[in-house]
Amino acid sequence: MKVKSTTRRALLGFLALGPFVTHVHAQPKTMKGIKEMQDNWKSLLAAGTAVPNAAEPLKLSKDEWKKRLQGVSYSVLREEDTERPGTSPLNAEKRPGVFVCAGCGLPLFTSEMKYESGTGWPSFFTYIPGTLQTKTDFKIVYPRTEYHCTRCGGHQGHVFDDGPQPTGKRYCNNGVALKFIPKDGKA
Ligand SMILES: [Zn+2]
Repeated sequence: MKVKSTTRRALLGFLALGPFVTHVHAQPKTMKGIKEMQDNWKSLLAAGTAVPNAAEPLKLSKDEWKKRLQGVSYSVLREEDTERPGTSPLNAEKRPGVFVCAGCGLPLFTSEMKYESGTGWPSFFTYIPGTLQTKTDFKIVYPRTEYHCTRCGGHQGHVFDDGPQPTGKRYCNNGVALKFIPKDGKA
């Protein structure tokens, strides 16, 4: 009864791995793989999502930003504050999709670029090219590399050199500075 045992094995395999397989995506092992992941970011965008142009800056007054962003979102994005670790629901977000700037909607990361860093903040090992800019800050005495959204200037987080290979980067992002758009369109 060869067919039966094969079917049984397949069923057992599905039961053992099924719940995880849909969320597992292999992390690229080479920079070529990282480049392909960056180039293919639109494949994770929900159909019909309007994407703003990174080259068209969004400039608003302080009052306009205060109207647009609530509480900690405002202090993080516009005043470079940091949310408390472990507070963002995006830490546990594992569905396929795209993470956009909560200030202006510019797509910054995809679900494929996310990894579990154990820090309590959503973490990514690379980003969508052309969407982030960096500067050095000295807020906690030693220099750190701050990064922000190219389009609206909104502060997102800090980048460190202890991320997974091949990039070796850890983009440590405030969850309140991002909005997740699942690929299947269901929020
Ligand atoms: Zn933005």
